[in-house]
Amino acid sequence: MSIRRLPPELVNRIAAGEVVERPASALKELVENSLDAGASQVSVRLHAGGLELIEVADDGCGMDPSEMRLALERHATSKLPGDAIDQIVSFGFRGEALPSIASVSRLTLESRVRASTGSGEATTPDGWRIVVDHGQPLEEGPAALPPGTRIRIEGLFDKVPARRKFLRSPRAEYAACLDAVKRLAMARADVGFTLDHDGRRILTLQPTEPPSRVAELLSHELDRHGIGIDCARDGLRLTGVISLPTFNRGVADQQYLFVNSRPVKDRVLVGALRAAYRDLIARDRHPIAALFLEVPLEEVDVNVHPAKTEVRFRDPSAVRGLIVSGLRRTLDEESQRSAAREQAAAPVMWQTPSPHWGEGWGEGAPAFADAYGTPSPLPSPPWGEGMLAEGQRLFTEAPAGRAEPAVEPVLSFPLGVARGQVAATYIVADAEDGLVIVDQHAAHERLVLERMRAAREGGSIARQALLIPEVAELDEPECDRLEAAAAELGEMGLELERFGPTAILVRAVPAALGKTDVTGLLADLAAEIAELGGPLSLRDKLDHVAATIACHGSVRAGRILSVTEMNALLREMEVTPRSGQCNHGRPTWVKLGHGEIEKLFGRK
Ligand code: ADP
Ligand code: MG
Repeated sequence: MSIRRLPPELVNRIAAGEVVERPASALKELVENSLDAGASQVSVRLHAGGLELIEVADDGCGMDPSEMRLALERHATSKLPGDAIDQIVSFGFRGEALPSIASVSRLTLESRVRASTGSGEATTPDGWRIVVDHGQPLEEGPAALPPGTRIRIEGLFDKVPARRKFLRSPRAEYAACLDAVKRLAMARADVGFTLDHDGRRILTLQPTEPPSRVAELLSHELDRHGIGIDCARDGLRLTGVISLPTFNRGVADQQYLFVNSRPVKDRVLVGALRAAYRDLIARDRHPIAALFLEVPLEEVDVNVHPAKTEVRFRDPSAVRGLIVSGLRRTLDEESQRSAAREQAAAPVMWQTPSPHWGEGWGEGAPAFADAYGTPSPLPSPPWGEGMLAEGQRLFTEAPAGRAEPAVEPVLSFPLGVARGQVAATYIVADAEDGLVIVDQHAAHERLVLERMRAAREGGSIARQALLIPEVAELDEPECDRLEAAAAELGEMGLELERFGPTAILVRAVPAALGKTDVTGLLADLAAEIAELGGPLSLRDKLDHVAATIACHGSVRAGRILSVTEMNALLREMEVTPRSGQCNHGRPTWVKLGHGEIEKLFGRK
């Protein structure tokens, strides 16, 4: 085996694999260069998702011919005048992008230096053009262009089949390019942007302030469903906007995170965002967010990834703490206000939880308002044998909807007096001002969680020792995880110990849990712990664990409740904070006002 030094073209091509993975990453590098060059306007043109053409033109400082030649060389950069790699404020600094891109495409670089005003220079130097084809200089000469730089990349990866085959359709590549432009446009609201794709104008963004830029680029619905964020702690500052828990998405594609104005896809930040919404939103749903974190330069290392999309924080738990607690506080405060606002707004039929009592209320009722407020064609029912059987079961088995004579006074319980149960899932109650329907599982799950939280804060989680300890059979890694978390789980009232390589012995469970399927609970907890991973404070962990335990301890949908049980549930909901919304962000109850009932029957 003989060792050799690689020729520069090969070095560049290898580097290209790290820096430019697809058109969007090349585009990102070019736009970053324009921003670093002090551009106030950046114009992007794409063909076929950037596979055929990527062109970026700016009105930045420009380069003279010798600078242009240097720019195309590896490790040539103007952005590290000193050697301080820990004080980086520019997007670029590694001097890799241009030579890497030039090694895997045909690159045309045109530039003209912006004459410094008042310098008395007689003539502005004309523009210059250099064309490089897959790392080989092809031609150079004068070019006519306004001051600034224009770079064209054609046939990216055309001659690099190993790369080419990983590229996706023009559509998918275009989507990635659009995302890259959006992220940088959010990072630099003071710069104007245009984006054209296949001759069509997609974006026109005038220079503005960050909040308006974000509003322009995020879902417009966020006007109604977003909350502004501004909090600071220990030299860190977090600003931006997040969506209310009920306004969420099936994919995490609208989460824009910035560290010192640099768009990042950082695990610490993404994890903290998730944690803040934890138990307000279902596990497979994702909030929308644009969050700007400002950190002292020495607290963060940006040189950990060739594309610079990841960063490393000196103190990740401080960052995480600020985000989780800041967002959480704002979400809690807002949940009260938004409920009140929804009620004051449009004459919706279904009311949301009233803000008169309890502490925090979820949104969520708007969905119901839409569903019931505006008549819409019913979706065709998924009739099938299973459905029919299920329907029959519901109607024939047990007194699923027992009626209670309305003799007791309704009193002034906000959630009214239980009159019966429907489909063994919903409690129907008669309130002073209308008809209330409660989702029993969702409501109870929330109550158990809030009860456990309160008990934990009071320092005493009641535990119930098992007469005969239960043995749960699980995978070895699951057992390892639970064993490692035994102390924290003990604090929640769950006492367990290792019982051989693939079993866990449970000696006590939280009293709030009642009778439960211990093995199922442990499996969920093990999955939970694996998913959380990372740097998590004990408090955060306990919160997550409490939510999982609560789900197991709750009255299932489908269980028949006695009237006494139903009323007890309603009364407890009335005095429990945040009981208007379940652990997954859905409402736990809705109300149909008397006036609305009258309207339904045409009496009004
Ligand atoms: P880096 O951005 O890490 O310095 P690049 O390979 O992206 O490395 O660019 C090399 C150099 O070329 C930059 O440092 C900059 O001086 C110059 N350059 C690149 N793009 C532009 C541009 N649009 N306007 C002015 N100068 C540019
Ligand atoms: Mg660069």
